[in-house]
Amino acid sequence: MISAKGYAAQTHESDLAPWEFQRREVGPHDVQFDILYCGVCHSDLHQIKNDWFPGIFPMVPGHEIVGRVIAVGNHVKKFKVGDLAGTGCMVDSCRTCESCQQGLEQYCLNGNSQTYNGREQDKKTPTYGGYSNTIVVNEDFVLHIPENLDLAGTAPLLCAGITTYSPLRHWKVGTGHKLAVLGLGGLGHMGVKFGVALGAEVTVLSTSPEKEADARKLGAHHFVVTKDREQLNSVRGKFDFILDTVSADHDYQVYLSLLKVSGVHICVGAPPSPAQMSAFSLIIGRKSIAGSNIGGIAETQEMLDFCAENNIVSDIELINIKDIHQAYERMLKGDVRYRFVIDMATL
Ligand code: NAP
Ligand code: ZN
Ligand code: ZN
Repeated sequence: MISAKGYAAQTHESDLAPWEFQRREVGPHDVQFDILYCGVCHSDLHQIKNDWFPGIFPMVPGHEIVGRVIAVGNHVKKFKVGDLAGTGCMVDSCRTCESCQQGLEQYCLNGNSQTYNGREQDKKTPTYGGYSNTIVVNEDFVLHIPENLDLAGTAPLLCAGITTYSPLRHWKVGTGHKLAVLGLGGLGHMGVKFGVALGAEVTVLSTSPEKEADARKLGAHHFVVTKDREQLNSVRGKFDFILDTVSADHDYQVYLSLLKVSGVHICVGAPPSPAQMSAFSLIIGRKSIAGSNIGGIAETQEMLDFCAENNIVSDIELINIKDIHQAYERMLKGDVRYRFVIDMATL
């Protein structure tokens, strides 16, 4: 076994604290890389707090992981020692089901292996994420990281990036479309960048008026403060798509009224409580409410290559791992500008 160290929550009620643990030896198809940066996703906070379901503890969060390869198994073809490497939200899947065969490992019908708070495909061994110094992953779930991009800013592409890129591609959002991005946080700011890069007219819907200047710098064409009734009413019936990145419980019906006829409300934000909704908010205007989960491995590589070509990275605040709790507190207040990334040298 390989000795690793990281930050873990021992229960859903405890703070993160230093923890030493074991990773598997590098197998024939495995890549080991030392973690240089790991992004802080709101899902980390949801999971250590058991917001969604009872978690697997101790939990080492982190699924926006980039670093440099230090060892490869003897059958590994795609990586060599010294390469940049990244891993997102999954470290394995069954590889045989219909979804896996279509490159949709995120929808593996037999359950993919989440990078943390999950289990390997033996359905027993717990997985530990990126708030740690090193990781061992099967090469098929390791991504090539472009050399021309800022490395710390690249880490959030592995979750916030692919989670917003994938639905925009699936629904073919682009020129001629009016896209609203709901919530300007880690996912939201990437949604704005991709929406603009794909040619859509982008509006940010935000609870935070003070984010307007940033939204415009990110390329957004319009900014609407959702708490201001007048501003909200001015965009009723305006959008082809809403990309909903909100982490907290909210009323979907309010936002459905902002869609055009046949518009689609795409949920990527995953609030803790089930929502209530009248069927009429969909019937009137033939509207859809849809969801999307991260993206497949091939699509994640496509997104990274798209970012390399278009010079897109996340806007980040680099933090010392000892300040993770302050980062979480700010995240809960919506005060993220626009992704915290842990400098793993501080571990
Ligand atoms: P984040 O950085 O904390 O951003 C969330 C944003 O939502 C906030 O910055 C805020 O933006 C807005 N917001 C917060 N509370 C709100 C409220 N009560 N009402 C309205 N807006 C509110 O979080 P994130 O990392 O981007 O993650 C967002 C959500 O996506 C989380 O639930 C996360 O678990 C989920 N997620 C899903 C996937 C997937 O595959 N589907 C992947 C990753 C993350 P404003 O200040 O602009 O209002
Ligand atoms: Zn995430
Ligand atoms: Zn599968």
